[in-house]
Amino acid sequence: MSSGSRSEEFCPRCGDAIERPPEVDLPTGPRDPDSVLCDDCYFEDFDLVDAPERIEVRVCSQCGALHRGNRWIDVGARDYTDIAIEETAERLAVHVDAHDVDWGVEPEQVDQNTIRMHAVFTGVIRDTPLQEKVTVPVYIARETCDRCGRIAGDYYASTIQVRGTERTPSSEEQDRAIEIAEEFVADREEDGDREAFITETTEMKDGVNMKVSTNKLGQTIAERIVRELGGAVSEAPTLVTEDGDGNEVYRVTFTARLPPYTPGDVIDLEDGDGPVLVTSAHGNLKGTRLESGDRYEADFEEGIAPDARKLGTREDAETTTVVAIEDAHAVQVLDPETYEAKTIPRPDYVDPDADEVPVLKHRDGLHILPE
Ligand SMILES: [Zn+2]
Ligand SMILES: [Zn+2]
Repeated sequence: MSSGSRSEEFCPRCGDAIERPPEVDLPTGPRDPDSVLCDDCYFEDFDLVDAPERIEVRVCSQCGALHRGNRWIDVGARDYTDIAIEETAERLAVHVDAHDVDWGVEPEQVDQNTIRMHAVFTGVIRDTPLQEKVTVPVYIARETCDRCGRIAGDYYASTIQVRGTERTPSSEEQDRAIEIAEEFVADREEDGDREAFITETTEMKDGVNMKVSTNKLGQTIAERIVRELGGAVSEAPTLVTEDGDGNEVYRVTFTARLPPYTPGDVIDLEDGDGPVLVTSAHGNLKGTRLESGDRYEADFEEGIAPDARKLGTREDAETTTVVAIEDAHAVQVLDPETYEAKTIPRPDYVDPDADEVPVLKHRDGLHILPE
């Protein structure tokens, strides 16, 4: 056929003359070679929807991650049916020249691993409204993702140790340290980071150990723990192996060393000014003097660990009766053990109208705590 407009007036397949009103919006361009055909030939083997014979959805049976493209992604705890519908939408291709396309899908659970998708598509092409039904089985393949495989294989690059200074961290501190780690990892996961994970958490007799996936993660979590609970981080690398290129591979242990005294502790600094109730262990130790109510702050060199001994904690306090306010610096209360009236220092935080006050009885005497 020679060039010119006349060749477009005949269908290249059947040879029939093509009669179209001039205003019909014919799809042009290289996308669909069939666009030159007459309507009869065009629709003869036309598919509105191109559907694969079956769709396989790979999910991790441990964490629910979905394999898409060539990687695993977290999709959160969701129904596999929803995931199957999304995957179906991804894999079904609607003819490029169709417009006003709409679709609906009816999932049919065939067995635990198979969902049959009954989809109905509608669209308009060559001014002709079309409807097409396709049924595609979606097979859910339950596998183990790379991350869960590494966790199961006890893979780790770094250890976080939570320890106290000359003490064992309290169970609240240990629980909170674990929570800080888990929250951080969950946030990273939320941001799509699948490389951050905790392999193992072990409660030791002197604290908590957590094995984590990278050295950076170990460092960040240890720093977050001391930022909240006080103390300092130290690190100790251990050479574990050389990799294939002869590079040394280290596992780093990050120790979050919690401060010797924590808020709520009552300590004696043996400086003649009486015991201190600790209120903060950030930067340097801060607290309240129990004899006067004055504020205490350790100096820079002492930091969070001034020379002191622990007398008790706020939890050891008992409520007792105020017998009489003697003067600006003394008050008479009942000893909670012997019920004898005793004169003790009156810190300025004691309410002059109080009938009862919390007191701590310790080896050096009896002191009123702030409420
Ligand atoms: Zn034709
Ligand atoms: Zn997994």
